[in-house]
Amino acid sequence: MSGCIFCKIVKGEIKSDIIFENDKIIAFKDLNPQAPIHILIIPKKHISRIENLEKEDSSLMGNLIFSAKEIADKLDIKNGYRLVFNNGANGGQEVEHIHLHLLAGRKFTWPAG
Ligand code: AMP
Ligand code: ZN
Repeated sequence: MSGCIFCKIVKGEIKSDIIFENDKIIAFKDLNPQAPIHILIIPKKHISRIENLEKEDSSLMGNLIFSAKEIADKLDIKNGYRLVFNNGANGGQEVEHIHLHLLAGRKFTWPAG
């Protein structure tokens, strides 16, 4: 989708520090990390928000979560990690292209603020 920064990262029009890629998914380091390890895992297909998912996207979203496991294995992350979807205005979503945050390397509190 034109104008979407994450679609531009998928197309290589904006540089990113890519740490995982397959035919449907790409993952790269967050520009403004909130933890020692902060990676964004996104579908290459442009989907703006969770509420815009179609039934046919369900396996893609499963693969997105499975990619988080593969990345955590690859980076040898110990002691757990946090996976976050910020969704919509109240969810704190700033980039309107679905992305899964993988945060690790420190302890997180709950409930989040
Ligand atoms: P969210 O608030 O869930 O929409 O998160 C968007 C995330 O994208 C933020 O953590 C930003 O730091 C990150 N971000 C924005 N632009 C880029 C970029 N060009 N490369 C890497 N991360 C980015
Ligand atoms: Zn997009």
